[in-house]
Amino acid sequence: MEFSYDYKPAVIGKQKNIALIAHDNKKEEIIEWCQENAEILKHHFLFGTGTTARMIAERTALPIRGFNSGPLGGDQQIGARIVDGKIDIVIFFSDPLTAQPHDPDVKALLRIAQVFDIPIANNKATADFIITSDFMNTTYTHRLIDFDKSVHDRAQQLAEEEKEAEKQN
Ligand code: PGA
Repeated sequence: MEFSYDYKPAVIGKQKNIALIAHDNKKEEIIEWCQENAEILKHHFLFGTGTTARMIAERTALPIRGFNSGPLGGDQQIGARIVDGKIDIVIFFSDPLTAQPHDPDVKALLRIAQVFDIPIANNKATADFIITSDFMNTTYTHRLIDFDKSVHDRAQQLAEEEKEAEKQN
């Protein structure tokens, strides 16, 4: 069974809520990236998984709110905030060469960022392109699936199909 979705516009504000995450082998890289881009980052609101956020706070003057450590649910906390419209951009320096115990959480975060059309950088080059984008200084309107409508439509369609099936029995 297939559903077609309706979309509605959603606005990412001028001041962005940015989540910063790095796996252990990439922590140094994200700290350096934050130092390089501190002038831009200081105009936005920063969040991060526990250890990453703590290390960024210690090594830069940037205010950053830390969630749980990634393996203890931090990625999921960030994913939940994406769903609530409270995270606009994710900078996630993941390690492609080391197995992670919380790989399912990492995949879940990537997936939910995709569902909510959130810019997400998995390496420095992408992060550089995002941070230098003109959209960092303006609002940005994107289109999101109208989730309320899709739930309503699905519930209705499933109920109708059930009625139809009962009739045939
Ligand atoms: P950490 O979590 O910042 O607490 O190390 C990052 C992660 O591994 O997802």
